[in-house]
Amino acid sequence: MDWLNDRAQFVTLDEIIGNESDDGLKVCVTFDDGYLDNISIGIDIFEKYNIPITWFVCPKFIKDRNHIPWWDLVSFICDKKKKIGYLKVGNMSVDLSKNISQFRRIARQKFMADRKTRDKFYRELRAACEGSVEVPMNAFADSSTVHAATNSEWVELGAHTATHVNAASESQDSFAEEVHLGCEQLKKWSNQSVDWFAYPYGGGDHISAASQDIVRQHGFTGAVTTMPGYVHERNDNFTIPRWTVPTSWGITKFKSSIYGLHATRNLGKIKKKISNLFWFDG
Ligand SMILES: [Zn+2]
Repeated sequence: MDWLNDRAQFVTLDEIIGNESDDGLKVCVTFDDGYLDNISIGIDIFEKYNIPITWFVCPKFIKDRNHIPWWDLVSFICDKKKKIGYLKVGNMSVDLSKNISQFRRIARQKFMADRKTRDKFYRELRAACEGSVEVPMNAFADSSTVHAATNSEWVELGAHTATHVNAASESQDSFAEEVHLGCEQLKKWSNQSVDWFAYPYGGGDHISAASQDIVRQHGFTGAVTTMPGYVHERNDNFTIPRWTVPTSWGITKFKSSIYGLHATRNLGKIKKKISNLFWFDG
């Protein structure tokens, strides 16, 4: 953020849409899900550099700190693969010390499926490893931290469904309810309006036309994805691209990505100018 602060202007989501200008790089910072360290580590940094953030929070994990999300459960099991050893869940049996990538693949498939399949797999997976290891609490914020964060001038809450569902594998009614319940809970915690939505998982495979319509009809200002790209005036406000910054990136990768992004954006502008020239000449 220190490095970015010297090169870009931090803006809110409201400020970034429909506002393509030539005056330098504008960056909007968002966090998904509701992990405590987004705020416990972040808040001093947001304040120091004047960074308004949108925090897309999923209430399920805030309300039930004993419910570790499936992706953290899978990571935890992978970390403890030696201690757990052999894992048998339903018709899946895996020797974790040999086939960790197979386990990851099957787990991801199950958890991206319909609600019944993923709930059953979650219960069985937890039960299967709890014999040899103790599954920790999740690393999310609690509701009082969420409330306190929204009282600061840096944090705006955004909706992310009630239980982090994949819109593509959810019925339309169920997805609509997920959007509604997730949003209402955040309004209660913050006493503020919730104007932005982030599709859980957020890739092209996780967003259907029907789910976009549901989000649009709910009355949000717009919605963000995890499809990479920069925001320009031709974006639809309900499929706004974002660049994911994985924890595996070091600062060098981060810098080169931002520079690459900026260069691509400028190249796009030059191309547009060139094609305009041809257009007028023709
Ligand atoms: Zn998420």
